Amino acid sequence: MSRYKKDFPIFQNTKFYSKDLVYLDNSATTQKPQVVINEFSQFYENSNANIYRGVYRLSEEATSLYEKSRKDVADFIGAKENEIVFTKNTTESINLIVLSFARSILKKGDLVLLSIVEHHSNIVPWLILQKEIGFKIKYIDIDDTSFEFSNIDLLLSENPKIVSITHVSNVTGIENNIKEIANKAHRNGAIIIVDGAQSIPHKKIDVVDLDCDFFVFSAHKMLGPTGVGVLFGKQKFLDEMQPIFGGGEMILSVEQNNCSFKSTPYKFEAGTINFADTIVFSKSLEYISNIGISKIEKYIKDLSLYTYKRLQEVDGIKIYGLENTSGIYSFSIKKIHPHDIASFLDEDNIAIRAGHHCAQVLMERFEVYALCRVSIYIYNDKSDIDKLVDSLSKISRLF
Ligand code: PMP
Repeated sequence: MSRYKKDFPIFQNTKFYSKDLVYLDNSATTQKPQVVINEFSQFYENSNANIYRGVYRLSEEATSLYEKSRKDVADFIGAKENEIVFTKNTTESINLIVLSFARSILKKGDLVLLSIVEHHSNIVPWLILQKEIGFKIKYIDIDDTSFEFSNIDLLLSENPKIVSITHVSNVTGIENNIKEIANKAHRNGAIIIVDGAQSIPHKKIDVVDLDCDFFVFSAHKMLGPTGVGVLFGKQKFLDEMQPIFGGGEMILSVEQNNCSFKSTPYKFEAGTINFADTIVFSKSLEYISNIGISKIEKYIKDLSLYTYKRLQEVDGIKIYGLENTSGIYSFSIKKIHPHDIASFLDEDNIAIRAGHHCAQVLMERFEVYALCRVSIYIYNDKSDIDKLVDSLSKISRLF
């Protein structure tokens, strides 16, 4: 059994079935360890007050806990504190970049490069802005056998203004070489935005080493609370950007016909933000750091390779991706609808995802409507994969 499983109370819960829960939908969201769950009551019982606003000690304590979270996040990814903006999730982080930064630099006829594997959260905001400005969008394709980017050099030579791509695909699990792509993008004068939602849970991220201009992710996919997203941006870009939400606490002064804003990152955090969850997020980072991100990376890598090997034993399976180290595999089984597979597995208390995975552009490229997906995290182990493969084999024999 994974030595980390005991830290997660949900696995002691047999609410739905007598069988133990096998949770393999970690790309959607991760479970929470007891230390993180405890942190909610700890905060609300001892330190709750609105941040920044009060001059009393309780408010000052809440403010310093919130700023500690910003520092912890910055340290976690090798950034400076004022380069960290808290948002609601990865989706909001991308929308903020698109509606503020991209809107200010893009003109009609400019080119934005996305990739065919992007999650809808890195496609739809661009499509919305495209309607307003009229820039072009081109999609980097993937190779049919390696599943890696194929025509990126060609598209970069067309001088895009912005390249916005995922670090790890939430469908294929394939990791893109961001350092190399950022280097090429910069040589071609482009800005690079990286969706790190699926890489940061189990890969060491150093934004300086990657040299990406923006890097975004969600706390809930890394053992943290929902409702907390991170937008890292190089300070020079954040300083140039205008806020898109106006309101309390992000201003310096307001008059009837004029207002001025605080500096980066405060000008982007309008109103009463989700400070309690953001403070709790710090505990998740501490839990991850206590284990060690390189240990997690190795654990996920080994279990990924085992998962890939075992999945291939299932009759009629087709995996949409190669062996990878990200612990994400999407697949179909001949003649069985993905939703039926997921429902059958649920009878054995195995939770996987079935659907388009918010990646309809990629589904169209694969000529499918939907796929099944398993995604692993540190509380999973070989026995979970064995149960998955037994259950899948049972299903494949039924048809
Ligand atoms: N990008 C990728 C690659 C994802 O996997 C997800 C979540 N499935 C998102 C973005 C969106 O994350 P959120 O829903 O937390 O905004």
